[in-house]
Amino acid sequence: MGNQLTTGCCVVGGGPAGMMLGFLLARAGIEVVVLEKHADFLRDFRGDTIHPSTLELMHELGLLSEFLALPHQEVAELKASFGGVAFTAADFSHLPTRCKFIALMPQWDFLNFLCERGRRYPGFRVMMKAAASDLIQEGDAVVGVRADTPGGALEVRAPLVVGCDGRHSLVRQKAGLAVENLGAPMDVLWFRMRRTSDDRAETMGQFEAGRIFIMINRGDYWQCAYVIPKDSFSEVRRVGLAQFCAQLARSVPLFADRVGELASWDQIKLLTVAVDRLTRWHRRGLLCIGDAAHAMSPIGGVGINLAVQDAVAAANILWRPLRAGTVGEDELRRVQERRKFPTRMVQGAQVLIQDRVITGVLGSQDQIKPPLAIKLLRAFPVLRRIPARLLGLGIRPEHIRSPERRAAG
Ligand SMILES: Cc1cc2nc3c(=O)[nH]c(=O)nc-3n(C[C@H](O)[C@H](O)[C@H](O)COP(=O)(O)OP(=O)(O)OC[C@H]3O[C@@H](n4cnc5c(N)ncnc54)[C@H](O)[C@@H]3O)c2cc1C
Repeated sequence: MGNQLTTGCCVVGGGPAGMMLGFLLARAGIEVVVLEKHADFLRDFRGDTIHPSTLELMHELGLLSEFLALPHQEVAELKASFGGVAFTAADFSHLPTRCKFIALMPQWDFLNFLCERGRRYPGFRVMMKAAASDLIQEGDAVVGVRADTPGGALEVRAPLVVGCDGRHSLVRQKAGLAVENLGAPMDVLWFRMRRTSDDRAETMGQFEAGRIFIMINRGDYWQCAYVIPKDSFSEVRRVGLAQFCAQLARSVPLFADRVGELASWDQIKLLTVAVDRLTRWHRRGLLCIGDAAHAMSPIGGVGINLAVQDAVAAANILWRPLRAGTVGEDELRRVQERRKFPTRMVQGAQVLIQDRVITGVLGSQDQIKPPLAIKLLRAFPVLRRIPARLLGLGIRPEHIRSPERRAAG
């Protein structure tokens, strides 16, 4: 028999969805346990974009200036080139938000920030190295989680379990929730290249025949994403690292003097891209949000913000029943109803871009020509506000409606 504890809500996964939900519920006076299987938040490939909508939430929480005191870069425009034609894909400077930019910040800083601020509330408990291994079920209800921890097996019992455990969610699998797979034609190789003070500054996306390459300015390094056709990484490896580096140097001449610093495949991480969603996000005693409910494509870099928005909506709807100690299925259904529409719209746009643009570019041997949308963005700068709004604010942006209950004394 292992250890047992009882709490008001058990959140599985300390990513953006889980940490934001844990923070907001604890802030509202609810006891929360967040189980995170890793020892820290220091994983590399998490995506580093904090969009204006999330920055607005930080403002609503009164945390914006503290948050922006953390090291970050500010991106007011997204630039790209398509078949050698340069264009500005989005201009955030007109958004009706406090911050008219995307903040590039290592995700571990964002998660550590939420974790530290969460500790101001007595009900907030994050357990690191605690990997959920199963759900505890009674009849048709989920009543808790089993986890492996350094201290041995642990049972956490709670009126609500929230699966925030990402694209490969164990929670959704153990709950038997049906997954609708929308498919993705690509995977991503994720690595860093040194950045020198002479390098240009802007974050760039490059679309050329057979290749898509994104380079994100992270101060003293470039975070690079090299998009390859789905399941082709073994072939890339078979051809060899020297060949990969040579191709990289040809594609991005800026890197010609430093591609040799990629000395091992260990420096290059494969991220398998999935786009899917649950048909039903909940069961009695259980809810999934974030990538656990809907894995997002990296297109647009909106997955973190969607996960955060889910967490805000869940806290807004659930804080009251959770304080009362019981959550019905109606409330869980309301969370899905609230977030289903933005999720479907964003995934729909991502799949459209995958089908219409990514597949064509990756499969092309010849010179590619910019589609009409890019020509319009070049000709009419005012149009750049539309993608900025969709990316920066999203559809149906959430606002903090859950209260803060301060600790007595
Ligand atoms: C190649 C690629 C690049 C991307 N780039 C961006 C980007 O730049 N910007 C952006 O907004 N989005 C990006 N995304 C999408 C983004 O990463 C996700 O949408 C977002 O991280 C989802 O947040 P989440 O909290 O739902 O899940 P995750 O961030 O996946 O967090 C899940 C957490 O659960 C933990 N966990 C998993 N299983 C267990 C378990 N059994 N027990 C305990 N803990 C567990 C994990 O360790 C992790 O900390 C990218 C995605 C891909 C594939």
